[in-house]
Amino acid sequence: MSTEPPADDSDVPRYWRELGLPGLVDVHVHFLPDRVQAKVWQFFEDAESHYGAAWPVQYPLPIEERLTVLDRLGVRAFPTLPYPHRPGMAAWLNDWSAEFAAGRPQVLHSATFYPEPEAPVYVAEALERGVRIFKVHVQVGGFDPRDPALDPVWARLEETGTPVVIHCGSGPRVGEHTGPGPMAELLERYPRLQLVIAHLGMPEYRDFLDLAERYERVHLDTTMFATDFTERLMPFDAADLPRLAALESKVLLGTDFPTIPYPYAHQLAALHRLGLGEEWLRAVLWENGARLFGIAAS
Ligand SMILES: [Zn+2]
Repeated sequence: MSTEPPADDSDVPRYWRELGLPGLVDVHVHFLPDRVQAKVWQFFEDAESHYGAAWPVQYPLPIEERLTVLDRLGVRAFPTLPYPHRPGMAAWLNDWSAEFAAGRPQVLHSATFYPEPEAPVYVAEALERGVRIFKVHVQVGGFDPRDPALDPVWARLEETGTPVVIHCGSGPRVGEHTGPGPMAELLERYPRLQLVIAHLGMPEYRDFLDLAERYERVHLDTTMFATDFTERLMPFDAADLPRLAALESKVLLGTDFPTIPYPYAHQLAALHRLGLGEEWLRAVLWENGARLFGIAAS
């Protein structure tokens, strides 16, 4: 008997149990200081004018309630992925994230950076404090990932191998420096970076599949990928499914919880209906993330 995809959020634990998994590792979850989070949600309330599509945020809840939702879903490990939209903000976000992760073993201590003179200093500090994942947002940050101010940061992260979730595709909105061009050049200079390309690089899926095939440590996260919402705006060409299947060990579950316009279960159902099989799903939903972050099944 084959496993049915989850019908709704309450059905999610049944789904991963039937797949034989101890839970989920979600590499793309955000927790931000309340004031910043409120601004992000405000922006999405107005999504129609920014993106041409309504974006009814599904989980606009207080922090503790959001943690409970993830716990009930069985998300055993997740980051907080802060990101600055201007200089002078990253160090403060990193302090908040460190505090948030302390005493919450399910939280992957996260940090971020921005091209500014202090970046190498606060990135070194974050690494000393045991940060496990960085987030970079090329479109919201509005900077070029090749900015020379970031050279010492990339060099250091190439050395440490710390995963960096980077939103660098041109969806849902084009940025001055988004797209595969700058990233291809960055990887030529720092080929050992442990990058996690957010949203599978949408809508430039094909170019980012190229990079994941070419570079051993380049991964892809599934955030919003293959959902009804994304397929309407940025459809994935089914002809590339065999490549996605072959990249089984480099695709990681990501969701963008809590700022998603559909229930969490829909992301899982969307991956399920790709038809890549249960072994692929086990790798994506648990094994790859568990290996990357050293998460033990408990
Ligand atoms: Zn995100």
